[in-house]
Amino acid sequence: MTPEKMNQLMQTPRIDFIHAIQNKDIAQCLVKTAEIHGHYCPGSAFGVMASLWGLELLQTEHPNMDPEKTASSGMEDLMAVVETNACFADGIQAVSGCTLGNNALVYRDLGRFAVTFALRGQKTGVRVRIRGDFRSHVEHALPEFFGLMEKVIKNRKGTPEDEAEFREKGREAAFALIKRPFETLLTAEKIVPSLPPYAPISPSHVCPDCGETVMATKVVDQGEKKGVCFICAGKGFHELEGRGIIKNKG
Ligand SMILES: [Zn+2]
Ligand SMILES: [Zn+2]
Repeated sequence: MTPEKMNQLMQTPRIDFIHAIQNKDIAQCLVKTAEIHGHYCPGSAFGVMASLWGLELLQTEHPNMDPEKTASSGMEDLMAVVETNACFADGIQAVSGCTLGNNALVYRDLGRFAVTFALRGQKTGVRVRIRGDFRSHVEHALPEFFGLMEKVIKNRKGTPEDEAEFREKGREAAFALIKRPFETLLTAEKIVPSLPPYAPISPSHVCPDCGETVMATKVVDQGEKKGVCFICAGKGFHELEGRGIIKNKG
């Protein structure tokens, strides 16, 4: 990387992504999404398209919105509410820049392939969802895709060759889908979003039992002992995994 490029990225880390979004370069957005997602697939392609369309419509809805804010800079001004934790969600995180870590991503455990984009302080936002007939589009783009997915992902019975083929078909399907007009695959509507408050800045605290550093919002008092972490308290905790948010008994 040249020093100039490094300097540019140090000023604006998402500059390449921002340019791809502004140029409506869906293929580049998909490539950059795969940097974090690890592979190409229809789900992440749908997430990329839902983000690009949703952010474009949000900009139309709020013309005074700073174009720089069409992608999150991690300050929670732009918020994304995503309703699934499948591949789709990485297309949302990558393109919008609203991520788990910067608290601009809200996860609702609904299993619906949908995302809402909203700006803090604005009454209206945009919800984009995958159309009910999306499978037929994937099948049309790539008839073998779902059969391979069943074998490799669902049944975990694929050979290394099947896995390689599945990755290749996933890539073919993803790049074929992004050529289609958004409205053939997705539906968008203006909505009044409900957003949680800004993420609290919670002081860190040291658990008296294990000595680990823990957010002060994630401790409990146990009799005389103040501020015990959930693990030491032995009361279980919630975790987000493939099935969604579940209670882990600890
Ligand atoms: Zn995927
Ligand atoms: Zn502890």
